[in-house]
Amino acid sequence: MRLKFLHKLLILTVTPVLIAQAGTMLAVLQTSKQEIEAGAKQALRVGSAVAEQLVQTRNQQISRNVKLLASDFALKEVIAISDPESTRSALDNHANRIGADLSTFVYIDDDGESDRATSALERHVQRYALTVLDNDGALPDIFSIVLGKSVYQVYTAEMRAPTTIGYLMLGFRVGDNIAKPIRKLTDLNVAILQIGATGINTAVSTFDAAHSHVPPPDLLNKQLAANSVYPKLVGPDEFWVTHLPLTRADERVFIVLASQKLKPLQHFLKAKDNVLAFGVGLLVLVVALGAWLSAGVSRPLRSLASATRSLAKGEYETEIRVASRDEIGELAQGFEEMRKAVASRESQISHQLLHDPLTGLPNQKHTIAVLEREIDSQAVTEVSLIVIKMQSLDRIGSSLGLHSTDELTRETARTIASVAGDGYFVACIDTNRFAVACCNTDLATAQALARDITDQLDLGTQLGSTRITLKSHAGVAHYPSHTTSAEDLIRYAMIASVDAKGKKLRLDTYDTGREADFTRYLKIVQDLPTAVEHEELKVFFQPKVSIASGELYGAEALVRWQHAELGFLPPDDFISAAERSDNIKLLTRYVIQKAIAAARQWQDDGFTLKVAVNLSARDLLDRDLFGYVTEVLEQHDVPTTRLILEITESSVMEELDLAVETLNTFRAAGILVSIDDFGTGHSSLAQLRDLPLDELKIDKSFVSQISADSDDELLISTTIELAHGMGLTVVAEGIEDEYSLRRLKHHKCEIAQGYFFSKPLPEDDFRRWMADYRPADYTERRSETRPFSPPQPSQAAPDTPGQMKKRP
Ligand code: C2E
Ligand code: CA
Ligand code: CA
Repeated sequence: MRLKFLHKLLILTVTPVLIAQAGTMLAVLQTSKQEIEAGAKQALRVGSAVAEQLVQTRNQQISRNVKLLASDFALKEVIAISDPESTRSALDNHANRIGADLSTFVYIDDDGESDRATSALERHVQRYALTVLDNDGALPDIFSIVLGKSVYQVYTAEMRAPTTIGYLMLGFRVGDNIAKPIRKLTDLNVAILQIGATGINTAVSTFDAAHSHVPPPDLLNKQLAANSVYPKLVGPDEFWVTHLPLTRADERVFIVLASQKLKPLQHFLKAKDNVLAFGVGLLVLVVALGAWLSAGVSRPLRSLASATRSLAKGEYETEIRVASRDEIGELAQGFEEMRKAVASRESQISHQLLHDPLTGLPNQKHTIAVLEREIDSQAVTEVSLIVIKMQSLDRIGSSLGLHSTDELTRETARTIASVAGDGYFVACIDTNRFAVACCNTDLATAQALARDITDQLDLGTQLGSTRITLKSHAGVAHYPSHTTSAEDLIRYAMIASVDAKGKKLRLDTYDTGREADFTRYLKIVQDLPTAVEHEELKVFFQPKVSIASGELYGAEALVRWQHAELGFLPPDDFISAAERSDNIKLLTRYVIQKAIAAARQWQDDGFTLKVAVNLSARDLLDRDLFGYVTEVLEQHDVPTTRLILEITESSVMEELDLAVETLNTFRAAGILVSIDDFGTGHSSLAQLRDLPLDELKIDKSFVSQISADSDDELLISTTIELAHGMGLTVVAEGIEDEYSLRRLKHHKCEIAQGYFFSKPLPEDDFRRWMADYRPADYTERRSETRPFSPPQPSQAAPDTPGQMKKRP
């Protein structure tokens, strides 16, 4: 069993008291017992002296009276001269007077014998008296005699007239007259015993009925006889006993004094009970005192223990208060200081947990909590949430340094907070992502605020001597019209901000149902790296034909993805996702590798074709791409002039200088650069003059319009002319019919690409297609022996939906 501290303390206080008590009790018991014994013995000794004194005084008194009577002249005359009857009568009279129980007179004749007794009793007494004569023949003053059951003390006195005529003898029965006064004076049991030849005769006894058989005193024990006290059984009980002769020099009649051993002890036992009661009382007092004291010590310890338990549970609010000023108090003080330190650290940590370390603004977790609270609140009927997505600082970071990007982020946070004002909750929910929660604010007001914020951000931030402008896109979502969940509200606003970027808008508002698209988008982003790794992506090839000769010129590599869950995915569905998530590098390299390997294969098959690969804006910023491309070309032993990189106007414009630098590097190595989708962008050809280009691809939206719209044809013809002026080869894509092809030939367009020749084909199909291909002169289009036929609807790429879609 584990003892509690309280109990240990209690034992510590109570045990010494208990031991002391028991010791005292034992000692008291021992000494009391001795004391009582000594007292009892002393009482007996005193009693014995008292009894002796009493008997002696009585003897002297009676002796004197008897002697006085013996000298009475009248009595003398009667005894000397009268007849026995008269003598008897006179004796009776006198005996009565002094209270004697029997009387007789013994005459002393010359012969020393006399027989003038009047009764047998007298004669007996007289005869007995003779037996007690002393050595000189004289009668003792007192002797005892047993008559029947009674013991008498007989007092004798010599009678002279003038010579001794005899002895007067008066007997007094021994009884209460002796025992009672002794008993009264000593409070001892008194018995007077006569020890005769026939046994013990009890003359008188103050013992009660239970103790009526008083045993004879230990006469043989001389030591005891000398007025000593000794134990003896009387009846069933033990007594302290002493004895003394009733009459001196008479060893037959004794006074026995006794005191019951147990009796004084009973007083003691009563006292012992009191002592015990006192002891128990004391013990109770000590236990109570000990308990109080121990509690005084253990209570603060217990409160300390419970305080530490609270600390362990993470409750740091309650102050640890222990009033005592002792060591425990000091300990408690220490604990209290520790609690404060931990509490402050805890609040720091929880602040860090709920705040963005850089801007000090509440973080996403905090924002969700606040939104949840607001949504739950009765007072709040609607919440509009704005999420502002800032342009990534990665590239700026590398040129400006980390310190500047941190400052830029903080400055952005300050700008947003100052535009939002005090009424709104501003948070930093992610890197480069801020949020403004607007309670009881409708969507229109929030949209206006979002515009104000992006307008302000567009003004840029002064950082030292340079002014830096970061692009920002805002998304807005609304409770309750979009969702009732705080987390969804944030997510929806985020989706809206991503959509805003995708749509190249400053601000977009969440569209109900957009979430499903977004989930699909996220899935695509998530699965793309493994798809590349496991070669789930397939590269298709679409032929490019020299219009003048009808010969095969090259092929464009176009990627496709057969997604395990989402099914067939056209590039439009995942290219932009790859671009946004930085997976585009992986994808581009994959396609380049497949395209160059295919070119090698074609060459081995006897076809010397150029292969075109599409690049994204990101690829133009990838400084390692050139190294990769040349390595793959070398690896497959394909000349650099065999590769065309297709870029779009917008991708070049994003980071013009860097893009131009990259393109120059490629071109310097002999790789060709083609500007894709021409005509859909904002720039005119004149603006593209400074770009390092080899080829221009007129967008399919113009080509397909040729037959219907003469304006388009005019645009195409001027573009071709201008492009030729700039030394560019012109490619027309999206040729679906022979008419378009003829018109393009007419305008001196060099290369054609489109379903008219073939849809994009898997590599094996493409090789088969090539083997079957026969060049033709498209000016002779009405001839009956055309080596090719326009694409059948059934052939129109069921695995490539969306290919027929026109660009806006
Ligand atoms: P793009 O570079 O303009 O590619 C030409 C697109 O026009 C292809 O669509 C092609 O299948 C389609 N097309 C070809 N002939 C005709 C025709 O006669 N009529 C019509 N209506 N369409 C025709 P696809 O394969 O769906 O590719 C769409 C876009 O995805 C491409 O447009 C390109 O921008 C991008 N893309 C495809 N593969 C890659 C790639 O490997 N890397 C990158 N960065 N982008 C790629
Ligand atoms: Ca292209
Ligand atoms: Ca194109």
